[in-house]
Amino acid sequence: KITEISQEKNRIEAILESMVDGVIAVNKESKVSLINSAARRIFNIEAERIKGKELISTLFSHRIDMYLERAFDKKETISREIKYKNPEQKIIHATFIPLLDEEEEKVNGGVIVLTDITELRKLETVRNDFVANVSHELRTPLTSMVGYLDTLLESDIEDPETRDRFLKIIKEETDRLSILIKDLLNLSQIESHSFDLKAENFNGVLNKVIKLLRKNAENKNIDFEINIAENLPLVYMVREQIKQVLINLIDNAIKYTPAGGKIKINIEKEGDKVYFSVKDNGMGIPQVDQERIFERFYRVDKARSRELGGTGIGLSIVRNIVKQHGSEIQVKSREGAGSEFYFYLKSAE
Ligand code: ADP
Repeated sequence: KITEISQEKNRIEAILESMVDGVIAVNKESKVSLINSAARRIFNIEAERIKGKELISTLFSHRIDMYLERAFDKKETISREIKYKNPEQKIIHATFIPLLDEEEEKVNGGVIVLTDITELRKLETVRNDFVANVSHELRTPLTSMVGYLDTLLESDIEDPETRDRFLKIIKEETDRLSILIKDLLNLSQIESHSFDLKAENFNGVLNKVIKLLRKNAENKNIDFEINIAENLPLVYMVREQIKQVLINLIDNAIKYTPAGGKIKINIEKEGDKVYFSVKDNGMGIPQVDQERIFERFYRVDKARSRELGGTGIGLSIVRNIVKQHGSEIQVKSREGAGSEFYFYLKSAE
């Protein structure tokens, strides 16, 4: 009989240990009789420190204690979302279940089931922020277009010059909208697909991009210095995507560097990696913003970026693509001195 009971106990413990959800069992005095590893992870606590002790004295969470007591008093299951900090802030979904005797009159103990929903909530916040940002970004050009269109429709503008100026503004805002929508589609496509990497020639992609952007640089009298190491191996990439990365990075370097500036582009080999870097001597990025520029819609100077036709999405596209290539985009920059963006691709040889 004893062997049977102890086997049964082992089995239950094994099941509890393998659960993704945290489980804490307590007796009727709220003293812990069992805590599985998922629950220990959630509370960042060791089993020895908590077993046999009162819940409140080990978790230091008045809320958990309060809801457990309430479940005991009401003899009902209660579910709540709880914030817990030790040391990181976590959001936990907790269900408090009182265990009643056969007549359902007396509470013999309780079970708390815990799910860590911190990541889920974080994702929800990111998504909500994104929707709010997109709405805002779409509304700005739309409001301006509606304003000018109303003026054109309501008042008899005789002067063709004024009329043309208004139409030109409307056209510019329409262009901005279509670039924004293109960027957004591009971003969601990259985020939702995984791609096959092929062995390609880095140099070939760079040459194409330089051809595309040379005119922009010339218009601002900006010099390109391009250094490509000899005997570069082929690298693993999705051609069109890396082309997009180079366009975004080099176009930014041109945009945020004043006329007469200089842009240095390097491709070099280091071990089994091939590094790409683009360095400008433009306005640079303040230290506090350097982490954030890769976020969607983040711009150091919103007005300036808008003026230059920016959407604030370019670098988040870059970050996503580079990540899909198993690498990371990085930045070194000093305000007023210039910026350097770099990443590597893996050698295919
Ligand atoms: P945008 O469309 O505004 O250029 P990006 O996502 O490409 O959006 O870049 C985000 C922000 O990062 C820019 O608005 C700008 O403030 C900053 N930035 C990017 N590249 C550079 C650079 N080479 N020099 C200075 N600032 C830069």
